[in-house]
Amino acid sequence: GQTRVAFIGLGHMGGPMAANLVRAGYRVRGFDVVPAALTAAAAAGVVVAASSAEAAAGADVIITMLPAGKHVFAAFEGEGTGGGLLAAAQPGALFLECSTISVEDALTAHEMVVASGHRGLDAPVSGGVVGAEAGTLTFMVGGSEADFAAAAPIFEVMGKRIVHCGGPGAGQAAKVCNNMILGVSMIAVSEAFVLGEKLGLTHEALYEVAANASGQCWALTTNCPVPGPVPTSPANRDYQPGFAGALMAKDLGLAVEALNATGVDAVLGRAAEEIYREFSLGGGDTTDFSGIINTIRAASKH
Ligand code: NAD
Repeated sequence: GQTRVAFIGLGHMGGPMAANLVRAGYRVRGFDVVPAALTAAAAAGVVVAASSAEAAAGADVIITMLPAGKHVFAAFEGEGTGGGLLAAAQPGALFLECSTISVEDALTAHEMVVASGHRGLDAPVSGGVVGAEAGTLTFMVGGSEADFAAAAPIFEVMGKRIVHCGGPGAGQAAKVCNNMILGVSMIAVSEAFVLGEKLGLTHEALYEVAANASGQCWALTTNCPVPGPVPTSPANRDYQPGFAGALMAKDLGLAVEALNATGVDAVLGRAAEEIYREFSLGGGDTTDFSGIINTIRAASKH
């Protein structure tokens, strides 16, 4: 029969993701603790439930898109008197945990799902709100081959590139490694532009060389931290996100957690976490993460 989807967490990402599932013909029952998120979801055709447990009852697939690990565990186990997702779901339900959480929390979440008689994948995304709305997200998926195959049609509604990264936790592992590259490379590109300014180079000249040479990377050619060379980059609209500093700080925090858990000696990843944590605390939380160039420029002597 028709696949029934429960969607828990209808915020910036979950709202448009759930709307795309409705548009594709899925029956979606949704829940969020914020009433305004429910109103918006209802307008998009999501059937609003009174609790996570009510949304999950009878569902074949249960998607969670929540801020952090603690919210995932709260939804799984239930808060107060309302039962949680694990107890309410029918046996064998397929859990798609799409929030960005630590690898360790993803493994714990997977064990809880399996211990409750269900199946589960970790499936964090990249592509931001724009990608969620357009249905062009990248899904990084960890779990079994069979569960991945079962979930693929659902991911394909919400995303463009669906990558099976390995067993449980591998999706979050891929996400945290990718975003550590992104954080470090944005700082590197920004430092190079500020150095270029001090050396008398125009932004255009440095861009023309680096974009066509070995300095090429996404932080330079898609999200260029100076206005001009890439008209669509946030630098051209006063650093409105885009990818907010708060999210980069969060993701680098997860990277440092993973570095500590594995004992990896990653000097730049750790430095990037410190730089973005301070950036975020200092007001960069709501601006695009490429705004880090202004911090570097301001901190530069003469
Ligand atoms: P958001 O804060 O807009 O949405 C999260 C929603 O979860 C909120 O509406 C909140 O009310 C709800 N919620 C919290 N606890 C709940 C509970 N127990 N039960 C039901 N609902 C609950 O966040 P977002 O931007 O949609 O991000 C969601 C996840 O996706 C995060 O882990 C984030 O790191 C990740 N992510 C975000 C982006 C982005 O650009 N926004 C990109 C990639 C990944």
